Amino acid sequence: MEHHEIVIVGAGPAGLTAAKILGEGGKDVLVLEKLPKSRIGDKVCAGGIFRHGLIYIPKFLLEKSCDSLTFHVNGWSTTINTVDGEPFFYTVDRLKLGQYQMAVAEKAGATISPDSSVASLDKRCRVVSLKSGKKIRYDYLIGSDGSTSVIARGLGFYNDKAVCVEWYVRGRDKFEVIIDDALGMGWGYVFPHAGYTIVGAGTMPRFMQIGQFREVFKSWCRQHEIVLGGEMKAATIKFNYNGFRFGNIFLVGDAASFNFTTVGEGIYQAMRSGEIAAKAIIDPTYRWKDDVEQLLIYHRLGALMTYTYDRLPKTVRSLTLKKLFRMLSSILRMPMRDAMATHLIRMAMG
Ligand SMILES: Cc1cc2nc3c(=O)[nH]c(=O)nc-3n(C[C@H](O)[C@H](O)[C@H](O)COP(=O)(O)OP(=O)(O)OC[C@H]3O[C@@H](n4cnc5c(N)ncnc54)[C@H](O)[C@@H]3O)c2cc1C
Repeated sequence: MEHHEIVIVGAGPAGLTAAKILGEGGKDVLVLEKLPKSRIGDKVCAGGIFRHGLIYIPKFLLEKSCDSLTFHVNGWSTTINTVDGEPFFYTVDRLKLGQYQMAVAEKAGATISPDSSVASLDKRCRVVSLKSGKKIRYDYLIGSDGSTSVIARGLGFYNDKAVCVEWYVRGRDKFEVIIDDALGMGWGYVFPHAGYTIVGAGTMPRFMQIGQFREVFKSWCRQHEIVLGGEMKAATIKFNYNGFRFGNIFLVGDAASFNFTTVGEGIYQAMRSGEIAAKAIIDPTYRWKDDVEQLLIYHRLGALMTYTYDRLPKTVRSLTLKKLFRMLSSILRMPMRDAMATHLIRMAMG
């Protein structure tokens, strides 16, 4: 049976970051990816990167930079500008990022095996089975196979997911975020790239049926003169974190749910968790727990909101943003809802 020191399942940002570091460390690394080689990186994703993500992404891959972001909240809009003159947000094309990361990982010595879909995990025998029937043995396994992770399921975990829908549009070149009571616990975004703009929205199906959510969002776009032509794409984001290390098996990126669920950010968290897993394999004395805890701050912020919302009685859930602002503004005797919301958003964004 084929055997590798480290098998990585999934060539996304998490898996390829780990592959590069392990390759550079002289390890025998095999990356199994279900997609063909030319499509590695091709993921339904808005490709937004905050400043902290730039440590992993070379400048030439950045498509658009954002120093001004417009929030649409329940019928009014407010624009937040950079405070230090530097952009605070960027976009990358996921296919270009994936192809770049793959080349870097291969150069570092990792072997990428495309068209290799993993079907199951036998953790007792340290074996993964591909859909083709082939079996591969590992000493260490990294599950970086995203929000529908076969490895997470193989470890006995359930993948609790939000659903996102996206369209590629033209002629809309500003960064925008949509928070609207009509979208329930969902949110929307308009992220410009080089030559196209991604418009999308996401929610958890248990808060609103995805068909209804899609129609509400489409109607919002019509009202704001966004023409959603072309194909609609859908993908999921996993919400429930179940752990990082299970003996010689690691879960990283979306497979573990490191993402910042409130805003749907996960590229940076994927890369960082891939890096932590690789370092933990290379150096047994590395104190990975501290770094995992620090990375989880993002996820826990989002998870706390979902956890709380899940447990709220229906009457409290009906307390929409509109009502909340109205209540707060009357308590604070501040009739200008717009000004107050701008202030709150600025505070939240530092
Ligand atoms: C609509 C949408 C918009 C988003 N927008 C943003 C954003 O603007 N900014 C941001 O930071 N994050 C965003 N995210 C989140 C981000 O896409 C993820 O957090 C990030 O891609 C996670 O990286 P990953 O490597 O863990 O997983 P992925 O990128 O999902 O990669 C997993 C890889 O594993 C492969 N794979 C899956 N199953 C198998 C299998 N059984 N066998 C072999 N290979 C397999 C897949 O083909 C894929 O290549 C968005 C997500 C969605 C759904």
